[in-house]
Amino acid sequence: MILVGEDQVIPVEFKERMPNSQRGVITQLMAYGLLAEEQFGKPFRRAIVLLGENGKIITFENEKNHYALFEETRKRLMAIIGNESFPDSDSTASKCGQCEYIKYCNDRF
Ligand code: SF4
Repeated sequence: MILVGEDQVIPVEFKERMPNSQRGVITQLMAYGLLAEEQFGKPFRRAIVLLGENGKIITFENEKNHYALFEETRKRLMAIIGNESFPDSDSTASKCGQCEYIKYCNDRF
C-alpha cells in the first residue's frame, strides 16, 4: 500500500514477522518507494512496516545505505536478466513446493 500525502509518498508493507536479516525488506521498501516517488511526483522519505496482528509500526528512512543496498540488488538483477541465468538460491524442494512462483522457476530441480 502507498500513502500519498501532500508532500511525500510512504510505502506501507504488512508482515507477519520480521525476518532475521532485514536486507530483503529494506530492498523491497526502497523499490516501492522509488516507484511511488516516480509515479506520484512526490518525495519518498520513509517507509513503514506494520508487523503482526497488533500492527506494530517499524519505520525505515530512505537513507544512503538503504539506497546502496537497493542499487546493489538492482544491478545484480539486471546482470541476471542480461545473462538469462537463474540467481543463486538457498531454497529447498519443500520450500519451493509451497511457493507461489514455482510455475516460473520449476525447472530449478
Ligand atoms: S520456486 Fe523459485 S522463487 Fe519459489 S522458493 Fe523456489 S526457487 Fe524461490
